Amino acid sequence: PLAALKDPSLLKTDALVNGEWVAGSSRFDVTDPATGAKLADVPRLGAAETEAAIAAANAAWPAWRAKTAKERAAILMKWHALMIENADDLARIMTAEQGKPLTEARGEVVYGASFIEWFAEEAKRVYGETIPTTDPNKRFVILKQAIGVCAAITPWNFPIAMITRKVAPALAAGCPVVIKPAEQTPLSALACAELALRAGLPAGVLNIVTGDADSSIEIGGVLCASDTVRHLSFTGSTEVGRILMKQCAPTIKKMSLELGGNAPFIVFDDADIDSAVEGAMISKYRNAGQTCVCANRLYVQDKVYDQFVEKLAAKVAAIRVGNGFEAGVSQGPLIDEGAFAKVESHVADALAKGARLVTGGQRIGERFYTPTVLADVTAEMLCATEETFGPVAPIFRFSTEAEVVAAANATEFGLASYFYSRDIGRIFRVGEALEYGMVGINTGLISVAEVPFGGVKQSGLGREGSHHGIDDYVEVKYLCISDI
Ligand code: ADP
Repeated sequence: PLAALKDPSLLKTDALVNGEWVAGSSRFDVTDPATGAKLADVPRLGAAETEAAIAAANAAWPAWRAKTAKERAAILMKWHALMIENADDLARIMTAEQGKPLTEARGEVVYGASFIEWFAEEAKRVYGETIPTTDPNKRFVILKQAIGVCAAITPWNFPIAMITRKVAPALAAGCPVVIKPAEQTPLSALACAELALRAGLPAGVLNIVTGDADSSIEIGGVLCASDTVRHLSFTGSTEVGRILMKQCAPTIKKMSLELGGNAPFIVFDDADIDSAVEGAMISKYRNAGQTCVCANRLYVQDKVYDQFVEKLAAKVAAIRVGNGFEAGVSQGPLIDEGAFAKVESHVADALAKGARLVTGGQRIGERFYTPTVLADVTAEMLCATEETFGPVAPIFRFSTEAEVVAAANATEFGLASYFYSRDIGRIFRVGEALEYGMVGINTGLISVAEVPFGGVKQSGLGREGSHHGIDDYVEVKYLCISDI
């Protein structure tokens, strides 16, 4: 699939340290999840190269932070323009290594690039403040300064967007970055880095350290333990988030964490049912259900339950599953065997405990899973408490607002949530009562660069995107000026 790139030089297969492409002494394979075929091999780096990348970033920091915000913004704007110009190639690389359908991949390129544009604009608005004095002889001035070398560890489900929404605010604020992309999807990261260099980003300001599943642990250990690294941003599982937090404790490192979710999707009986079905399709089946904001538990009120199940199942049964490069395909492969294990165990457990299989429920060949709808799901089933991360919609029945809000909040997660209602009072009541960082109301699609993305409870720390998204990359400094 990569032979068709318009610009083959975007296919970078070496890591990036201090502006140099580094081959490493050992390599690992990147494969196409739709076919299992090898796409390329990339460096399997470890502790020494990670230390080198941190040192390069630290050396590049003074000159980068000394640039005016406008100068940094100009480079980011150029990077953004190059991402858009090369969107077709970036999408091909992404579909090849991640599996999502090509149109979805192209959508992610544009979405991912939008963070670069947004934070290029925000770079110029990192305002400090002055505080009215309490002493006529003193003045209080507040500065916001770049925090220093930042590290980012990112997942495979959004190979570009999860990088740009960390890297763009860091660069905008004047910080250099070391990225450890997911072992499944390093090629997207490397292609973006090549475009950043073409945009004029100085050597050492952006470094990419690649590693396989094992060496990623070693790389992560070095990034967490480093005194030089002042901030670690991670998107991935809550389990790994906990490990990283522990490893960052000795250096009291600032952290941003975007962890797991267990999103409720509630349909009240006053909802527009067709719109709710559309929203469920987008929120549940996008990226084959492999996003942290995917609807994980669908709660539908008594009166509209049967109607909703029937309408959703009809649409779900029509989803075309296959290789993301084929026209008309809207669901690609699952990422790996671990993903199948989770999906299959959740479906088997639900069926064993009395759920009804409405559609799907089967593995197709080695790499694909049929989009699935389960009805009569109850709180005792695994899919009620764990994130399925696959194309399975378990539908619960409820009767009262109080009951469904309690059920929706009965989880340690608190990332995205969704509900459908046309009642303005209910919209405010439920919107305020859901213990989630984000609430989609009458929509299944909530993420854009302009708004704060993030979770409460064990779904994470901090917010990405929006004007808040730069806060984690600056330190607040207080100057107390006396003898005026
Ligand atoms: P997923 O289930 O989406 O693969 P993970 O949390 O396992 O989520 O992985 C997300 C990212 O974290 C990947 O880049 C992976 O390589 C990295 N990772 C996994 N385990 C560790 C670890 N112990 N230390 C550092 N990075 C890790």
